[in-house]
Amino acid sequence: MNSSFEYRNCPCCGQNDFEVLFESNMKADDFQGAVETVYMIPGGRWGRHVKCRSCKFIYVNPIYKASEINKAYSQRKSVDVSIIRENRLRASESQVGLVKQYKNGTYLLDIGCGEGFFLFNASRAGYITKGIELSQDAVEYARREFGLDVEAKPFEELQFPEDHFDVITLWQVLEHVPYPRMILEEVRRILKPEGLLVASTPNIEGIPAKMLGKRWWNVRRLHINQFTVKTLTTVLKNIGFRNISSVSYKESISLLMLFLPILKYLKLYEPLKDLFHPRSMLGKVMNKMMLAYSSKLDNCTVIGFK
Ligand SMILES: [Zn+2]
Repeated sequence: MNSSFEYRNCPCCGQNDFEVLFESNMKADDFQGAVETVYMIPGGRWGRHVKCRSCKFIYVNPIYKASEINKAYSQRKSVDVSIIRENRLRASESQVGLVKQYKNGTYLLDIGCGEGFFLFNASRAGYITKGIELSQDAVEYARREFGLDVEAKPFEELQFPEDHFDVITLWQVLEHVPYPRMILEEVRRILKPEGLLVASTPNIEGIPAKMLGKRWWNVRRLHINQFTVKTLTTVLKNIGFRNISSVSYKESISLLMLFLPILKYLKLYEPLKDLFHPRSMLGKVMNKMMLAYSSKLDNCTVIGFK
């Protein structure tokens, strides 16, 4: 195996005893162009998926070196923002509504905040917000568009004081990180007593995952941990979180976002991309038409308290 890979013990329980679920279809240099876009279609590249015999957690093993992964994310460009903006703003209103049910107007940290859509809605709802994000480009967008307090640093480097935040959120982050347990332990440390954690990640036991198997859109080279409600709950419990429960919010997808991967799959994207550009007349209309569905369909969203 190439030296740019590293093997992991189970990121949930630390054991090194697994069965292989399916092999990788990646080539040695596939990680170089690793950062994917919303044009991504099912059936792309993925790593070797294994299942821990001890705690049943499904994870990719080996992975690309953690330092390489961080470097790739820090160089990620926000090329697709005009496509995702409308539906991320819509979905994050519902995410803020979920957080509000459990904790009101206080210090909130969003880890892996991307372009800041969730933080924008959270600050409008009265939270005092802070974001961290590896992508320099996304950080600039969040500052420029929304005037948010966002830092472009790895979470590990940020050493926040103990008992600091009332709410910490991780929206679609845990599936990307090499050592999710370490992050969650640090999250617990910097939360105030009774502080709230919200973590949401794709669910490999959801209906689409079960129907599509390896062709499920969340089996892709950047997703290196595949949680279920049960494994996510177990890891939080083992770290010491209390009153853990599975929750949901309303996800949104615009007609444009649904349609673009189909065009790409049919190899019609290149000839038709100007017609369906988010700033074209048709693109604008399709970007405003939203389908809403429960996040439970494809995600596990779990809350817990310190
Ligand atoms: Zn395990």
